[in-house]
Amino acid sequence: MLKGKTALVTGSTSGIGFAIAKALAQQGAHIVLNGFGDAETPKAQIEALGVRAEYHGADMSKPDQIEDMMKFAASKFGRVDILVNNAGIQHVAKVEDFPTERWDAIIAINLTSAFHTTRLAVPAMREANWGRIINVASAHGLVASAQKSAYVAAKHGIVGLTKSVALETATTGVTCNAICPGWVLTALVQKQIDDRAAREGISALQAQNELLGEKQPSLQFTTVEQLGGLAVFLSSPAADQVRGVAWAMDGGWTAQ
Ligand code: NAD
Repeated sequence: MLKGKTALVTGSTSGIGFAIAKALAQQGAHIVLNGFGDAETPKAQIEALGVRAEYHGADMSKPDQIEDMMKFAASKFGRVDILVNNAGIQHVAKVEDFPTERWDAIIAINLTSAFHTTRLAVPAMREANWGRIINVASAHGLVASAQKSAYVAAKHGIVGLTKSVALETATTGVTCNAICPGWVLTALVQKQIDDRAAREGISALQAQNELLGEKQPSLQFTTVEQLGGLAVFLSSPAADQVRGVAWAMDGGWTAQ
């Protein structure tokens, strides 16, 4: 379905980003990977699917590095057809204790980076009259939790950015939508489980069950493969008129 298209997925060396990259590659898209840590293994796994993969290690908190990554993608593939803004970090603390540099980093990585990639990707998408922008927001883009002020602000912000870009591109073949996962068992959430287990003196399994029980009525994690499937749908012709939505995949979290 996506043969010949190029998808750039930020924060795709692990977790949700890697799964989305894999799902798009399975549909034939070439992939530009980004993120920290080992890039060789994910790159080889994408290439094993029979598509081209490139890696750029831009730090999403640095606008000049983001510009360099977008130029790199254009030089390798001509343009980015599918942009997935996925890179994200978390920090948990009360607002009065929130380290200001953590606030700045979360807003830069989880929100401002998507502004930069989007502004740089849209002109070529408009010219081709086809494009997909998929912003990985969160249930926290729709509702809040205590002790996550920066994350909730950034995720609500990216839902707003999604709607504005969707309106600006509404008469074109370019769509912009957000995905709002509930709890997904990745490194980002494992840390919160481990912190909770240590804080309360309980097992990791008990901490995991508490986490799900508080927020996610299905009592099951959303899987990275399910999120990959949603990204494929949003990239498909069936989603041509899906514009500016914040699509929850959260086991009922935001239905409450
Ligand atoms: P993860 O920690 O497994 O992956 C995060 C990715 O972002 C990694 O590839 C990491 O290297 C990259 N990254 C971090 N800082 C970066 C930076 N400055 N520059 C470039 N890359 C950077 O976490 P994940 O759970 O897969 O998270 C992916 C996205 O999904 C995030 O935006 C997160 O907020 C969102 N999300 C996660 C959950 C969940 O439950 N795991 C729920 C809702 C939304």
